[in-house]
Amino acid sequence: MRIYKVGGAVRDRLLGKPVTDIDWVVVGATTEEMLAKGFRPVGADFPVFLHPKSGEEYALARTERKSGRGYGGFTFHASPEVTLEEDLIRRDLTINAMAEDDQQNLTDPYHGQRDLKDRLLRHVSPAFAEDPLRVLRVARFAARYAGLGFTVAPETLELMRQLSDSGELQALTPERSWKEISRALMEDQPQVFIEVLRACGALKVLMPEVDALFGVPQPPAHHPEIDTGAHTLSVLQQAALHKQPLTVRWACLLHDLGKGLTPEAEWPRHIAHEFKGLKLIKAVNERFKVPRDCAELALLVGEYHTHGHRALELKPSTLLELLQSFDVYRRPQRFEEFIAACEMDARGRTGFEQRSYPQADYLRGAATAARNVAVQPLLEQGFKGPELGEAIKRERLKALKAYKEAASA
Ligand code: ATP
Ligand code: MG
Repeated sequence: MRIYKVGGAVRDRLLGKPVTDIDWVVVGATTEEMLAKGFRPVGADFPVFLHPKSGEEYALARTERKSGRGYGGFTFHASPEVTLEEDLIRRDLTINAMAEDDQQNLTDPYHGQRDLKDRLLRHVSPAFAEDPLRVLRVARFAARYAGLGFTVAPETLELMRQLSDSGELQALTPERSWKEISRALMEDQPQVFIEVLRACGALKVLMPEVDALFGVPQPPAHHPEIDTGAHTLSVLQQAALHKQPLTVRWACLLHDLGKGLTPEAEWPRHIAHEFKGLKLIKAVNERFKVPRDCAELALLVGEYHTHGHRALELKPSTLLELLQSFDVYRRPQRFEEFIAACEMDARGRTGFEQRSYPQADYLRGAATAARNVAVQPLLEQGFKGPELGEAIKRERLKALKAYKEAASA
């Protein structure tokens, strides 16, 4: 049997990037031989094994043929006769279809090195179209390597467009889609992921609510960039520049969905877009079975981001309602993430990128003031049940009044 390093490990070494996980391909071996060497099988569907010591993935060289819709619709053929070239041709991009032996000799039948040099994300063969997930993967790699100058090859974008138009994208499971989306949002230039999806028509299929924001104007005084789609991309870019976590990035992407529903006659204003957007945010969350923390923050940011921007003008009672809505007493971290998303929203406007955002500290101070209200004295005064709740709220309101007065003095 012959063993080669494949995929990302080869690509990233040639790019001079750190290699985190290594994928291996094994040519000329049978399942029985692998098991005899102590490899552990991973799942029933694929001829993939884990190394007894390193835990890295070793896959038997295989060919694939599409046999139906969706990902289940693949038949695999792994046998000792399958060659390295046959295994590499089923891969998505030429830069991911190189292999390397233990002497660092490269096998590169589909010209991955040339495309690395030309900074091109190019499909290996027409079989690319057999798995719609590759549309998302290519957009994700575009987001990751945009900083190095990579773009999607025109003929690959064309294939992605055909896949998007064909209805195949709908066959993706929520889990597979979310895995790609969430990884793409954590890349250095997540806005490129959305741009590429939009350029090939996939955004319209996957997230029509986000696609609808392009071409929708906002008031130029607050939004010099005018276009709501362009604004959304800038907010995402700011979130990446500021190393925000996935929850915040997801909320940034969805915060303005309501603006896509505004009747043209009302443009460029978007009255009550925060509230109108909630059902759209909910729909996107459900479509991809988004994890609870991301889904929840997106809804809260959608509903309250304008409150964040107007924090210094809010009446103490409104401030209190905001803090209660976030359950800031038990979930302080979530409120921090809300503040971060608001700040990214404010910075994601042309000319406002470097502007300070005093609302952030003001909101933090308000949360602290409300949280510092001690419950013990109220218990000692004999408050119980719903009355205790009311008394705590009254005290918190008092604290917020004092906080606001002190802050504006
Ligand atoms: P990363 O750095 O994100 O791990 P990677 O290229 O190693 O990038 P993996 O998802 O680990 O990506 O997959 C390993 C290799 O398997 C890829 O480089 C590619 O050759 C191939 N591959 C993975 N998923 C697909 C797919 N859906 N279609 C075609 N080839 C794929
Ligand atoms: Mg990998």
